[in-house]
Amino acid sequence: MTLQQGNDTIAAVATAVAAGAGSVAIVRVSGEQAEAIGQQLFRPAGRQSWESHRVLYGHVVDPSSDEVIDEVLLLLMRAPRSFTRETVVEFHGHGGLVAVQRLLQLVLQAGARRALPGEFSQRAFLNGRLDLTRAEAISELVSARSQRAAQLAIQGLDGGLQERIDTLRHGLLDQLAELEARVDFEENLPPLDGNAVLQVLQHVRQDLQQLVRDGERARLLRDGARVAIVGRPNVGKSSLLNALSRSERAIVTDLPGTTRDLLDSELVLQGVPITLLDTAGIRPTSDRVEQLGINRSRAALASADAVLLLHDLSAGWTDEDAALLTEVPDGIPVLQVGNKRDLAPDAVLAEGVVAISAQAGHGLDQLERELLRCCGHNGEGGSLQLALNQRQCDLANAAATALARSQEAAQQQLPWDFWTIDLREAIRCLGEITGAEISEAVLDRVFSRFCIGK
Ligand code: GDP
Repeated sequence: MTLQQGNDTIAAVATAVAAGAGSVAIVRVSGEQAEAIGQQLFRPAGRQSWESHRVLYGHVVDPSSDEVIDEVLLLLMRAPRSFTRETVVEFHGHGGLVAVQRLLQLVLQAGARRALPGEFSQRAFLNGRLDLTRAEAISELVSARSQRAAQLAIQGLDGGLQERIDTLRHGLLDQLAELEARVDFEENLPPLDGNAVLQVLQHVRQDLQQLVRDGERARLLRDGARVAIVGRPNVGKSSLLNALSRSERAIVTDLPGTTRDLLDSELVLQGVPITLLDTAGIRPTSDRVEQLGINRSRAALASADAVLLLHDLSAGWTDEDAALLTEVPDGIPVLQVGNKRDLAPDAVLAEGVVAISAQAGHGLDQLERELLRCCGHNGEGGSLQLALNQRQCDLANAAATALARSQEAAQQQLPWDFWTIDLREAIRCLGEITGAEISEAVLDRVFSRFCIGK
């Protein structure tokens, strides 16, 4: 590892920041000056010895005015027994906004600088505390929006992914060593069995392809899908929403790229977090004013991964339903759902229409399955053990492609050194997944996606 690590001291609020929310807030400080900053700002109550890995109780006091800022618990964790392996001080103060920001301000004035997003984890990685796949799993756990996504993240945390990738990478490194030895000293060594090498490459490539497939299946569990429910007034959209929300509720967050008022509600279907988009009022119109209001709904519709078009079976398929169908932009899969089956048990269903009764709760299982299929989910998420994220999938794919090229060189009976070029590339890609081989620019990109204080 050639990366240089800054040894300045960083600080951030490590807990969620929101007015009135959270009874405890933690300011985390990491680096050489952390202990001195802690001593400077913290005034213990009574006689308590200043020791590592011990919780102290007292107050944070502004050294310039002697003003008490907050009542806190202080935790000192001397290097290397901390998350970053640097000396870490945590102030556990009261939640909310004001006191914790003052506390952070004092820590910054005392010589720390504001941590960048993910910088604590980056230091933990640089100091060998965790590999890149574990660091990413932590970030994924923090941002998980369903229980299934959280479970997948926890599986990544125990290092299974790192082990799997390392094993593959070491298998390739062994082959590379054999090949390179032949390039340099062919005549002094026993002949190399090209087929045996090829078999290893083939095996690693298949393994990587499987990992990529699993990663793609897991993407939906992690990232969720955006679904627009569209239908004429009174076909039963609200009733359907209520019926679908009976299962696990998703954690509603302000997701990047969505505005709060369009985010109608969230639910979890078979582990997949679904954001339901409000597309109220969409209908073809020539009224310019009405048009403006509808544009927003149209934009939401265009951003959907799938559209659920609801109609009323007891009223039959009307021109208005057909007009709504034409509103769906090309390329977005549409699931047609006929509601109020209880009122029209004999209505003949057009192909692909799922019949339900939102009120009676009938047909919802099939609807969930079909809707998830529209979103690209094939329902096998339950068996996933390891799930590569997008970055890791891209690298695994690149490694598999490089191996395919290497195999081609072999099949064309090109000299050994032709095999090694692509083999080296595959090894580099795998090293970038775990962080065994990685450039500073890539690292910054990975960690900048983390939240502040992590
Ligand atoms: P929205 O305007 O599309 O949101 O429709 P609502 O959900 O408000 O439903 C309109 C009316 O249809 C309400 O009176 C519901 O009780 C009724 N409704 C909804 N779903 C069903 C159903 O499956 N069967 C029957 N019989 N009535 C339903």
